[in-house]
Amino acid sequence: MSGAGTMTGGCLCGAVRFSAAPAKREVGACHCGMCRRWSAGPFLVLDCERSLEIEDATNLGVYRSSEWAERCFCKQCGTPLFYRLVEKDFYAVSAEAFDDRDGYEFKSQIFIDEKPAYYDFANKTATMTGAEVFAAFALPADRQAKE
Ligand SMILES: [Zn+2]
Ligand SMILES: [Zn+2]
Repeated sequence: MSGAGTMTGGCLCGAVRFSAAPAKREVGACHCGMCRRWSAGPFLVLDCERSLEIEDATNLGVYRSSEWAERCFCKQCGTPLFYRLVEKDFYAVSAEAFDDRDGYEFKSQIFIDEKPAYYDFANKTATMTGAEVFAAFALPADRQAKE
């Protein structure tokens, strides 16, 4: 199957609307401490590479959570919307922010070594540790203390 096509989505209140064209409808979870604190749980995303287009950024809040990444949310309702690698212009968009979740497949879990013991997904997925993620994205090793 080639691409998932263009999908639309937005925040809880509708002030921020976007479209994106993820390569696949494959959902990944991030268990890192920053994602969990920010999104109130493991952050479930679709990789949208550079395809994200915001309709109107007036209500888009941007928090620079590390030297290399930003976390964006709705200033009105607080919905966490996406994580962006600044230099690579790569977007991981909240799977639950999309309007249509048909065909979603849960495929991967990253920062599995930071997952707290109190929950476990029953899904069988690929997993990566934080160190493996940093290596895959070619982020400097001395920045591994936080995502
Ligand atoms: Zn909103
Ligand atoms: Zn994370």
